[in-house]
Amino acid sequence: MTTPVYDPYEEAKKQLRKAVDLLGYGDEVYEVLAVPDRVLEVKLPVRMDDGTVKVFIGWRSQHNCALGPYKGGVRYHPNVHKNEVIALSMWMTWKNALAGIPYGGGKGGIRVDPRKLSFAELERLSRTFFHAIADIVGIDRDIPAPDVYTNPQTMAWFMDEYSRKVSNQILGIVTGKPKILGGLNVRMISTGHGTAITAREAAKKLWGTVEGKTVALQGFGNAGQYAAKSLYEWGAKIVAVSDSKGGIYSSKGFNAEELIKWKVEKGTVVGFPEAEKTFKSDDPLYLDVDILIPAALENAITKENVDKVKAKIIAEAANGPTTPEADVELAKRGVVVIPDILANAGGVIMSHIEWVNNRMGGWIKEEEALARLEEKMTNNFEEVWKFWEEIGRDHPMRDAAYGVAVKRVVEAMKLRGWI
Ligand code: GLU
Repeated sequence: MTTPVYDPYEEAKKQLRKAVDLLGYGDEVYEVLAVPDRVLEVKLPVRMDDGTVKVFIGWRSQHNCALGPYKGGVRYHPNVHKNEVIALSMWMTWKNALAGIPYGGGKGGIRVDPRKLSFAELERLSRTFFHAIADIVGIDRDIPAPDVYTNPQTMAWFMDEYSRKVSNQILGIVTGKPKILGGLNVRMISTGHGTAITAREAAKKLWGTVEGKTVALQGFGNAGQYAAKSLYEWGAKIVAVSDSKGGIYSSKGFNAEELIKWKVEKGTVVGFPEAEKTFKSDDPLYLDVDILIPAALENAITKENVDKVKAKIIAEAANGPTTPEADVELAKRGVVVIPDILANAGGVIMSHIEWVNNRMGGWIKEEEALARLEEKMTNNFEEVWKFWEEIGRDHPMRDAAYGVAVKRVVEAMKLRGWI
């Protein structure tokens, strides 16, 4: 028997089917939402530093715009493929609807290992990509942002390329920009901090507090780092952390700030002096901890390995880390899996504040933005938790989150006369 190839788009469609059935909608609603509005595939020829030309490939998927302009990040990764980008754009539709921000869902990706490109090559690739998708984006049309292996510098190039093309300075064409170009410093911490807020709220429900609880993280990029930092500041114990090069463990718990410094300097958590032992990248998934944070990529917890997962709360900082089969299994065992569309919405919630701020010509203070994020994340968590209790906690919490999100999108489509 051959192992079936994992296709995130197939998983995303299964989740949608479940939500449509839960809400009692017919096939028509499923058909309309299962397919993205538009997917643009672009060829990206880039002049490399050695004078040769290399051709890359990229996509922008626009899933649904019933609630407003398409919104979502652009990832650079050697394994990105079209169906992954489509799935991610669908997840953005639900994430934005659930967050209560006036956006539809979009996502982009370039198949590239950015760690193998020079700074100048990355700039040329980024500009070529944005130029190639410029005709389908727009401040009220589609607003990209950072995702895996893209950052404020990438957004600065995107914004500049677009502004040159349209001969207008359109700061709000992308979010997640550097502060001096209309970004907010707190945008960098927002995804991880938001995930930490949802983990904290879930811990309060189960144990009254997050203080003293043990935490393991698989993945230590932007989202993982700031989830760890906030939880550490609230007194949780960060016992295990990993990245693509390996993982480390400490029974006493790591100082998250020191660990972030190490990671930024060395490019990996491996070798951090406080570690008691070293293990493989996926090992944090199987530790007996209170809180597990998958913060890497899709397909981390599957029906093949779900039996080995022992955590009581799982807060999904990554997009799509748990497959639908594993999700059902975990719900049966009473594990609280805070779904990605709720747990990692902090990034796009802050993106929305940045976009509003750009349109107002710069108005919002960093502290105000952070307070808004806190309020939104806790309120959204409460709303989903309440609906979860209504449908029954033997169902995955994701079903409740999807219920709220899909309903909003369908209502908007009905009002627009689309269905
Ligand atoms: N890439 C992030 C996500 O998956 C943020 C998207 C945004 O800010 O538009 O939610």
